[in-house]
Amino acid sequence: MTDETLDPSSPEAWEAMRALGHRMVDDMLTHMQTLRERPVWQPIPPEVKARLKQQPVPHTPQDPAEVYEEFVRDVLPYPLGNAHPRFWGWVIGTGTPLGALADFLGAAMNTNLGGAEHAANYIELQVLGWFKQLMGFPPDASGLMVSGTSMANLIGLTVARNAKAGFDVRTEGLQAQPARMLFYASTEVHSCVPRAVEVLGLGRKSLRLVPVNDAYQMDIGALRAMLAADRAAGFQPIGVVGAAGTVNTGAFDDLDALADLCAAENLWLHVDGAFGALAALSPSLRPLVKGLERADSVAFDVHKWMFVQYEAAVVLVRSEKLHHDAFSTTPDYLTHGDRGVAAGDIWFSEYGIQLSRGFRALKVWMSVKEHGIDKYARILEQNCAQAHYLAARVEREPELELLAPVSLNIVCFRYTVPGAPDDRLNALNDELTIRLHERGVVLATSTRLRGRACLRPSATNHRSTLADFDVLADEVLAVGRVLRAEMGL
Ligand SMILES: *Cc1c(COP(=O)(O)O)cnc(C)c1O
Repeated sequence: MTDETLDPSSPEAWEAMRALGHRMVDDMLTHMQTLRERPVWQPIPPEVKARLKQQPVPHTPQDPAEVYEEFVRDVLPYPLGNAHPRFWGWVIGTGTPLGALADFLGAAMNTNLGGAEHAANYIELQVLGWFKQLMGFPPDASGLMVSGTSMANLIGLTVARNAKAGFDVRTEGLQAQPARMLFYASTEVHSCVPRAVEVLGLGRKSLRLVPVNDAYQMDIGALRAMLAADRAAGFQPIGVVGAAGTVNTGAFDDLDALADLCAAENLWLHVDGAFGALAALSPSLRPLVKGLERADSVAFDVHKWMFVQYEAAVVLVRSEKLHHDAFSTTPDYLTHGDRGVAAGDIWFSEYGIQLSRGFRALKVWMSVKEHGIDKYARILEQNCAQAHYLAARVEREPELELLAPVSLNIVCFRYTVPGAPDDRLNALNDELTIRLHERGVVLATSTRLRGRACLRPSATNHRSTLADFDVLADEVLAVGRVLRAEMGL
């Protein structure tokens, strides 16, 4: 009997793997360097889709070079498009060459950041330390890298619930709650927050939605009134989720006012700052997040507006003790030692839901060192300037209409026809969005503001130039005119 492994089986096979690896690096760097020459997005041809979806279980080996060929033929040409300079869909980051290589390094080490004494944990601690400083959190605050802000919000709200419940939620469960616990967020809250509240077992009704003003910020007077009414009705308010950059329009709640109110009302202040919290990096944008440094917890992505490869996000929690209390469990097989590999300053598995954890921190650590925070700040400012440039063009074009003020990097606008009713304009703009995707020159996604359909480009893209935004406006005008004629408007 011979022992099998999954490594290349001979010196020659190692050489072939090395050659394939070099080819992959060359191909992928060329791919990134030439993104602009390809469509942003293109439909997947039916025969390709069939190949992707209908392969039998492979029971016998295939040459790795052949597997790679399949990837190059069937996967690589049909991306989501977010690496392209003219992609502004949803809020999605762009990635960088070194970020991709760093992911490879982490994968090659294949380490596990659940805990124990090894260097990777100290890289994550260092990255968290940098972010604490950048967000104005104290050095003894706690934090964790997670897959995305959805997960980071879930972690923050779990700590909030347990800290403010007034009973031992971990032991007793919600059956023990004397009164319904309530969180508050604006009507613009990201959908992952109600989902987190559901997952926490509180029920969607336990997230009260506070109305917004014309700038799409939470109406704090309305919040105050809702709190008073809910307390009078016997409910137990426990926390507020403030927004630093809402997903629809990039609006910021008044975090300072929320921090005052939460302090006075004994409420947890959690901030969903998926992309907007990064405004803290830039001296000129920082006033937008004033008060963020007073939050009990904050969640933000590194894969969106700091452009590292998916997936990477951070949750910071002011109180290390409350963070640890919410998740710590140490069974015998995970006992921490004083020496040897089971030692270690920190076991990240005690601060979240995952035990086994990947080396997300490495791509952040390497990228931040590669560029320096000041360059990130300039890119964020550049994206905001581009959004304002686009908004100014929209305001100059009689056929285009701006539907919300530009707070940050998101522009909400539509193609319009004087006198046409909103339902016809909605149909026109919905179809316009899809046709833009199919043309593959620019890509923005849509939303509805007060019932009106609009395009909603989000400039979270370090590859875009000002000229790209003129291409966007030109494309919208061209397709809009065609549709206007087709629809007889
Ligand atoms: C994207 C986003 C989220 C969710 O973040 P993921 O990284 O996609 O999980 C939450 N809140 C806001 C405001 C967002 O833009």
